[in-house]
Amino acid sequence: MIPYGRQDINQQDVDAVVEVLSSNWLTQGPKVPAFEQGVCNYTGAKFAVAVNSATSALHIACLALGVGPGDRVWTSPITFVASANCALYCGAEVDFVDVDPNTGNMSPEALRIKLIQAKSQGTLPKVVIAVHLCGHSCDMAAISALSDEYGFKIIEDAAHAIGSRHGGHRLGSCHYSDITVFSFHPVKVITSAEGGMATTNCADIAAKLVAYRSHGIVKSPDEMVRPDEGGWYYEQHDLGFNYRMTDLHAALGLSQLSRLEHFVTERNRLAVIYDSKFSDLPLTPVDPLPGSESARHLYMIRLHQSERRREIFDTLRAKGIQVHVHYFPVHLNPYYLERGFKEGDLVHAEAFYQEILTLPLYPALTASDQQRVIDELATCLA
Ligand SMILES: *Cc1c(COP(=O)(O)O)cnc(C)c1O
Repeated sequence: MIPYGRQDINQQDVDAVVEVLSSNWLTQGPKVPAFEQGVCNYTGAKFAVAVNSATSALHIACLALGVGPGDRVWTSPITFVASANCALYCGAEVDFVDVDPNTGNMSPEALRIKLIQAKSQGTLPKVVIAVHLCGHSCDMAAISALSDEYGFKIIEDAAHAIGSRHGGHRLGSCHYSDITVFSFHPVKVITSAEGGMATTNCADIAAKLVAYRSHGIVKSPDEMVRPDEGGWYYEQHDLGFNYRMTDLHAALGLSQLSRLEHFVTERNRLAVIYDSKFSDLPLTPVDPLPGSESARHLYMIRLHQSERRREIFDTLRAKGIQVHVHYFPVHLNPYYLERGFKEGDLVHAEAFYQEILTLPLYPALTASDQQRVIDELATCLA
């Protein structure tokens, strides 16, 4: 089986984890802050807060921006369900902005039109979550300009996009956003097994993320509101969670971070090969935004014969090629249909979904396996 994505673990990764196992700390030791500092150095963000998944990071990112009952959060329908669920965890309402028909990323024009309507109805969103599908950056300059005009905050769901750049900035620098969230699940660009991180340039937001990650507890003397009871004393200020990352996971993440540039280079090299072999086939690759560089978490194509997508998917799977579809539109899941969403709500997203297919792409994909994917796909489309 050729998977659609796969982690790349070497001896350095194994050694890093084993070293933690025989150290004094399995969790809350030196590796978590070292991984956080590594991500700050890499992205240029001032603060990074490691957690046990990107889902947790999205949840506490919403809380840190004050999302609660009565608030609205908007995101893209072409994403993993976690991008939307985080708003519901906070008791807020979620709604979706239609996508650009070529990239599957949130369309700034659709966002502008929806904002104009919402303003006239008094239903503006508190937060917009932009998702960088495949690692391809959204048009963040346009979305950020709208945030200045309409007063919403921005979370970037960069689960696919550590290692991407846009407008001369690495994603995660938060140049265009309040918070950026990464995932380190094994299929993503780098892995800590399970894990996630939130970056921000705002000290207040970072302090809130740190507190929500660990039960809403604060420990530093300058944050205490009651008199100090002694060396054992801490205070709970909010209702937080246990979303902490362990040192075992952080050691793996930190080791992987040192190879991130190599992974991104390899993923781009393989993507260019796919691009060059597909020019005569009835398909269109989903390309990065001009002027940006993608970490290439996913290599996605749009099939011109979209009515044959299921047949092509089944044929390739039967041949041991684990193609995939990212994603079934979030609003069409039964859970969301029950909340009032329906087919036809987001026409571009629904049309995009019908055409897409994800092909195998990961740094260790061999030339012969990639050639097999290309040949089998060409046979299907002949
Ligand atoms: C994978 C993913 C998540 C969730 O990541 P976890 O670390 O598994 O919680 C969120 N958003 C998007 C777009 C993803 O692809």
